[in-house]
Amino acid sequence: MSRSVLVTGGNRGIGLAIARAFADAGDKVAITYRSGEPPQGFLAVKCDITDTEQVEQAYKEIEETHGPVEILVANAGINKDQLLMRMSEEDFTSVVDTNLTGTFRVVKRANRGMLRAKKGRVVLISSVVGLLGSAGQANYAASKAAMVGFARSLARELGSRNITFNVVAPGFVDTDMTRELTEDQQTKILAQVPLGRYARSEEIAAAVRFLASDDASYITGAVIPVDGGLGMGH
Ligand code: NDP
Repeated sequence: MSRSVLVTGGNRGIGLAIARAFADAGDKVAITYRSGEPPQGFLAVKCDITDTEQVEQAYKEIEETHGPVEILVANAGINKDQLLMRMSEEDFTSVVDTNLTGTFRVVKRANRGMLRAKKGRVVLISSVVGLLGSAGQANYAASKAAMVGFARSLARELGSRNITFNVVAPGFVDTDMTRELTEDQQTKILAQVPLGRYARSEEIAAAVRFLASDDASYITGAVIPVDGGLGMGH
């Protein structure tokens, strides 16, 4: 059965791998993008998740073409790494506004259709550093840790409506975000990863697809690490 899926930030990186995984399985996949040419093969809707009006417009467009969103993957996110001493208030609030409040905006709007349908799957893309912490990433880690409390609260609030909320916490993945790290940073990171390598985006996508599948029908409020063992025990 073809389901209506929305992946925020599905135009590149991990989000694109997630969008492809659903499309390959025959689902109707919408992705958001902010600028440039979005990839082919999806319903691409222009949307900045920091803007409630743009989120509303994106959902209207998706609903007209694919019907209400049944599976939401809140993947869009940014980082503005800086030591606390040098971190501006804007560095902090913009990361929280995108990663956490942006997630709130898209989840809240998706919930409308899911409540009506009396079913839904929501998967939030957090990060291993949300629970592990990371020097120079206090803003990013705080926003990603908060996603867990958000998802678990909604799992309780909306479980009786057959809507599940789960979190995937990737470790380091080979994308634009990690390519910005210096060689020294990369060597130090990989020394901490039991599997000794970065994840491929497809490995994150596989966990997301599982959480949206019938096989995961009794899983809600879970945090699934896909981190090569980096965050073990957290
Ligand atoms: P990229 O930097 O490659 O892509 C980020 C995506 O988010 C882009 O599609 C971008 O859109 C979108 N985005 C950012 N801000 C907004 C916004 N305000 N509105 C709409 N879309 C926005 O990141 P990754 O693919 O590496 O990361 C995807 C997710 O996975 C993020 O949430 C990240 O925190 C998380 N993650 C990544 C890890 C990694 O190692 N890469 C590890 C753990 C978690 P645009 O193209 O328009 O900029």
